[in-house]
Amino acid sequence: MAPSPETNASPPPTTTDERPPLFHVIETDAGRALRERPSLSIRTRMSLGFLLLFVLSLGITVASLVMLRRIHDKLQFLEAAASYTFEIQQARRYEKNYFLYGTNLGDAIEHVQTAEHLLARHRRNIATVVGATHADTMATHLVKYEELLGRLEALSQRQPKAALPSRPAIEAELRVHGSEMVSVAEDLMARERRSLNTMLVMSQRVPIVFLAVLLPLISYIVNFLTRQILRPLNRMMEVARRVAEGDFTPITPKRRYRDEFTELGLTMNHMMGQIIKRQELLVQAHKLQAVGTLTAGIAHELNNPINNIMLTASMLLEDRQTLTEDEQLDMATDLVDQAERTQRIVRNLLDFARESELHTGLPDVQDLVEGTLRLAANQLRLGGIRVERRFGENLLKVRGDHQQLNQVLLNLVLNAVDAMPQGGTLTVATGPADEPDFVAIELSDTGKGIPDHLLTRVFDPFFTTKPTGKGTGLGLSVSLGIVQKHGGDIRVTSKVDRGTTFTVLLPVARVPA
Ligand code: ADP
Repeated sequence: MAPSPETNASPPPTTTDERPPLFHVIETDAGRALRERPSLSIRTRMSLGFLLLFVLSLGITVASLVMLRRIHDKLQFLEAAASYTFEIQQARRYEKNYFLYGTNLGDAIEHVQTAEHLLARHRRNIATVVGATHADTMATHLVKYEELLGRLEALSQRQPKAALPSRPAIEAELRVHGSEMVSVAEDLMARERRSLNTMLVMSQRVPIVFLAVLLPLISYIVNFLTRQILRPLNRMMEVARRVAEGDFTPITPKRRYRDEFTELGLTMNHMMGQIIKRQELLVQAHKLQAVGTLTAGIAHELNNPINNIMLTASMLLEDRQTLTEDEQLDMATDLVDQAERTQRIVRNLLDFARESELHTGLPDVQDLVEGTLRLAANQLRLGGIRVERRFGENLLKVRGDHQQLNQVLLNLVLNAVDAMPQGGTLTVATGPADEPDFVAIELSDTGKGIPDHLLTRVFDPFFTTKPTGKGTGLGLSVSLGIVQKHGGDIRVTSKVDRGTTFTVLLPVARVPA
């Protein structure tokens, strides 16, 4: 069974009268719109995403390395400062001894020199950690202290026992510089210890913070990239599905940038264009096949008027002397009538066969049916088929191509003829369909019917039960394609040996009063 019109409703028919053909829209307009966008490929987007991650990781790594370097410097400083403080404290102890007992001045000087040596060796590290000013302060005090001790030594060598008047002044100065040196060193050490602790705490937190930032960032990037790929992929799947259902609405741009999927979109649009082209060829080919079928009947139908013409013309030739003027006039009129009849028959066929562009009009359903029955009149007569018309009272119009709809009905009529080789009745009914806003054209035959298991296959292309040379299996699939293009549908019900009913549903044309 064919799908219902609601689910199947295709876009309104494209016409040469109203807008450019769908083929043109697909190949050029949609293509241009797809192409004329700034390009930002998925590859670039992925690279940018991973670059962002790399930059973040690089930042964190550099920051950690810098922090480790500073921790290392601080540890070195603390070590140097501890030795320095120790040396100063020793020097001060010996300095006190000297003032109390007059001994150990040499030891004091030795320790100061060691401290000086330490300061010189670690000068760079100390300057980096505590700054050049503090390093200079430490050095200045030390130099001053050493200088005072040197002066004291020089004095004691000259007058060892004497209590020189300058000694208390030197002693006081020594105390100032000594305690200053120790307190500066201790202050700096305390400060650096605190800062070291802070840095250690930070270095513990950094990886945790890094992970906490990295996790949502990675999931955002993955999510973003997945959307960038999956969304268009889903759209393409959706497009492929509707193409399979016969909807060839072209793919139009939905995103700001052009990327790899744009090429796919363009290719799919091109594919739709090609399918439409081929479908049109198929419709035309099938129409010609129907013309072939009709030709035998038409030839037969032409025979009668031509025989009549021959007969009348011969009588006119042979008996023109004995015929009255009125009789001659009657016969001439008869000749014209018969000639007109042949002309009409040939014109009907030519009109149907002519390859033409899609032409939208507002054909009347009854006219359509009558036109088709006229075209197949001889086939029906030859097949011994009685036609019963059950036209609804209202004149219903549909919007579409007269010729193509004729082709659909003709195909159904010819199939009915084939299904009733021993003759039968073809009932053609028109009227509003059960679905609102749809017209139904029902063709019921009293033929051999279609078995249930084949009912779903009759619309498949190339499905035929007719002998080779007679059936192509394209009639119903082409007909369904045409009707779907008009926004309608074809349905079938059948009972074996009882008959088949095909119902063509078409949307009613709303004609403004
Ligand atoms: P073809 O007529 O070339 O076989 P169609 O697509 O028109 O191709 O029809 C496909 C098949 O559907 C036919 O071969 C026939 O088996 C079946 N069929 C179509 N119309 C009728 C009908 N009115 N009664 C019985 N069978 C039919």
